[in-house]
Amino acid sequence: MMPRDKNSPGMRTVRVTRPKGAFALVEQSIPEPGPGHVRIKVEACGICHSDVVTKEALFPGIQYPRAPGHEVAGAIDAIGAGVAGWRTGQRVGLGWHGGHCGHCLSCRRGDFVTCQVAFQMPGVSYDGGYADYVIAPAGALAAIPDGLSSVEAAPLMCAGVTTFNPLRHSGARPGDLVAVLGIGGLGHLGVQFAAKMGFQTVAIARGEDKRPLALELGAHHYIDSQASDPAAELVKLGGARIVLATVTNAAAMSSVLGGLGVDGKLIIVGVPAEPLEVPIVPLVFGRRAIVGWPSGSSIDSQETLAFAAHSGVRPMTEVFPLERAAEGYERMMSGKARFRVVLTTG
Ligand SMILES: [Zn+2]
Ligand SMILES: [Zn+2]
Repeated sequence: MMPRDKNSPGMRTVRVTRPKGAFALVEQSIPEPGPGHVRIKVEACGICHSDVVTKEALFPGIQYPRAPGHEVAGAIDAIGAGVAGWRTGQRVGLGWHGGHCGHCLSCRRGDFVTCQVAFQMPGVSYDGGYADYVIAPAGALAAIPDGLSSVEAAPLMCAGVTTFNPLRHSGARPGDLVAVLGIGGLGHLGVQFAAKMGFQTVAIARGEDKRPLALELGAHHYIDSQASDPAAELVKLGGARIVLATVTNAAAMSSVLGGLGVDGKLIIVGVPAEPLEVPIVPLVFGRRAIVGWPSGSSIDSQETLAFAAHSGVRPMTEVFPLERAAEGYERMMSGKARFRVVLTTG
């Protein structure tokens, strides 16, 4: 850690030093929020697989050094000029939707998450939540309800809204058969949300060992995709209205397409590198569809938090202190974390 002037208040930040570089814990002075921005005192920040974007320089134009982190939970600590509707001390989250231009066609329609001009992500566009403090646009804040701790709220700001939001907009109605493909960082939340929304919920994963967990999370059925054909099993259950694909494996997505019922829809939130192979005939003759879904905007995150608080949906977390961010990141990348790694500032 770098020394700093003992007379000025300081903060810790964990930054990626250069493209594909190592993490470094540094001390810096605490920044002031500019117009339209607030300062958040970070209490918890989830480590998301998408933080690989910053670590490995997967988006063009990222300025280094850069602190990752778009699953932030904390409290407003200072408010910049021109900010209305938020107060100091208020508990807030900051997620993947970290700002937008406000004037493009998407923004004029209120569809900020598809902003075409200046969509911002904390930890990519500006320093994110691997830190004691974060400066964020007020338009990107989500209020955290009392019923959620910061460690619980943080992963809901990305993994939570990414599963809650497409499910609630899916067109499925209570009692419909809804399958969640994959029980990991996203899927373990998707199964809980689907069950609490009143869907007949199916969890699909590899291996019989995941069955007890799937049922504990609220799934009514479990399909072991190694032991059986998941499409055939879904057909036996009547055909899925929705399959929410949280895995990052295109072949696994293809393998469930045959399990969609008439008017069934595969909703993709995991992003594989390889293309998806799709037989067209069942799409045409059963009005089946395949769509992607990009998380949600700050109000979607706020509604995710509220729904979780009311319904009892909670992320399963492994907690690391901020100074062990590099270790926490490796734990997340190993795929062994159950299921979200969260940094705390203590
Ligand atoms: Zn994320
Ligand atoms: Zn815009």
